[in-house]
Amino acid sequence: MKIQEIIQEFIPCEVCGNSDISNFYFHVFAHWGSEPFVKCCECEEEYYSKSAKKALGGIEKARKAKKPRVRVTLRPEEDCEIMEYAK
Ligand SMILES: [Zn+2]
Repeated sequence: MKIQEIIQEFIPCEVCGNSDISNFYFHVFAHWGSEPFVKCCECEEEYYSKSAKKALGGIEKARKAKKPRVRVTLRPEEDCEIMEYAK
């Protein structure tokens, strides 16, 4: 699954109307219980992503690695497999 497919659910931005997918990023905050967020880089708004949580199997691995301040940022063109690097 492409990160882009997840981010598309959040376009356009509710706050500023940004609809440029290259200005959205996907963040996983491992120290917040691995909750995934999509961030609009125009207005800095961050959206919780329930569907992303289901889609990303690697999040659970990142949490189990017990690195308390892991923050993973994914660009729209990347695949979910990149989550492996969070270990
Ligand atoms: Zn925005």
